[in-house]
Amino acid sequence: MNKPKFNAFSEQIASPDFSVSRPAARLLGHLLPDGKGKTILYINQFEGLTAAATTEYDALILDYCEPVACERFLFELRGSFSELLYLKPVFLLAAAAPQKEMIRQLVDGVIPAVQLAGISNLMEQLLQRNREILKAAHGSENEKPLLMKAIRYLASRKASLIPVPDPDSVIGYSFPILTVSCKSHQFEQVMEAVNEGVKKGFFDPDFISRLQLCPECFSDSFSLRDICPHCKTLLFASHNPFLHASQAATVSENGVPEKNTLFKQNSEAAVMKVSVDYSKPSEIQTCHICRHQTRDPEIKAFCNSCHTESEPEHLVSFDVAALKLTAAGATAALNRSGDEQQAGVMAPGVISQDSFSLFLEHEMERYRSGAFPGTIGILQLQLSAADRNRLGNRVVRLLKEVADEIKPNLAPSNFLSLSYTHHALLILLPNTQKVDAIQIITGFRQDIERLLRFNLAVTAKKVKMIVKEIQRNGFSAEAFLASLLAK
Ligand SMILES: [Zn+2]
Ligand SMILES: [Zn+2]
Repeated sequence: MNKPKFNAFSEQIASPDFSVSRPAARLLGHLLPDGKGKTILYINQFEGLTAAATTEYDALILDYCEPVACERFLFELRGSFSELLYLKPVFLLAAAAPQKEMIRQLVDGVIPAVQLAGISNLMEQLLQRNREILKAAHGSENEKPLLMKAIRYLASRKASLIPVPDPDSVIGYSFPILTVSCKSHQFEQVMEAVNEGVKKGFFDPDFISRLQLCPECFSDSFSLRDICPHCKTLLFASHNPFLHASQAATVSENGVPEKNTLFKQNSEAAVMKVSVDYSKPSEIQTCHICRHQTRDPEIKAFCNSCHTESEPEHLVSFDVAALKLTAAGATAALNRSGDEQQAGVMAPGVISQDSFSLFLEHEMERYRSGAFPGTIGILQLQLSAADRNRLGNRVVRLLKEVADEIKPNLAPSNFLSLSYTHHALLILLPNTQKVDAIQIITGFRQDIERLLRFNLAVTAKKVKMIVKEIQRNGFSAEAFLASLLAK
């Protein structure tokens, strides 16, 4: 990736006016100097730009000049499951706050001009909180990734998740950070995350509306239909009959005598109780097909979206509520799980990720002082979604088995750690050139792939390998590690 050079941009000018124009295709945007060593990228060309390409920048300012392209980029960024992307401070450059509530909730502020003075404090706070979260993000997860992501985003922003009425959403509402993380047909996952977050006490719900949804597709658009209990068709005609005592006959509202099987026998008796010579029982319905008459038709909910018919009692009830992050939620966002701590204690020869980060930090410092560079290697199991479901918590045991496999061949000066989140082994090789490290790590990879061949629970037998020379690159060790794992 070409690093954009600093341009002649200054905080004083109110609108972007770049003295040096560069071909947009090669550059992501313009780096803004903030004087504190932060890399803030101003972007006004979104064509062909992927969110992942901005991983290494601390914060982004997005020009809202092309709203559609800008929103696509913003949704991709916030939709990512990499903490370095979805937690990134993002400001929108626009004359006024955008109309769409969804967009307003997904940016950290709207600024009328590229001036860092007004946002640098907020940005610093966000980056500080994100660092805390990034540390925790290396641990194994107790919660489902979507719920974890939502509470981390809200903890970073100290914000509530406010549902937004959205005609494009299946249920009529969007939950900004959750909705951008799922495909539109995966609304079930959004509801699951909301329900689970409320159940676990991470969210304090402020009730807005109760929805009744189709159990098949979660659409809130359906019609209630009367069904003939006899022939099960939905062709019913309803009418209000009159029972005339004197004529012992039933007539319709407009006086036409009709053959009525429900009331004929007892019409006289019924009418004798009142002082008028007719009575008007409740509406009755006649089936167009089989002429069956009933006052108690079956009721079915017909989904206008997927066209399935359900019993009304089977409709899914879902409460739309504004979700305030509770103290428990904020703690869970930063929580290091028990498994992570166990790794340091229970698997001999494997150090915790915190310790690993410390050693990595140390290596990065050593490199800066002119020492021989070290190398970091990552071996990541390419588990399929089915594998992950099948393994569940046993993935921890699998990773420990894999670690046991390679430990005997690890040099005493090397460090090994495990990332349960990324199903990866982290190997630090101080004082080792990349070319030698590749040879060593490739050997480990072959060992692991051999082991996986005999593991029936895992269908994916391949291991992804990343080998990177350790450099002093302006990142913290955690951010450097996270950027490697995000690849
Ligand atoms: Zn019928
Ligand atoms: Zn449906």
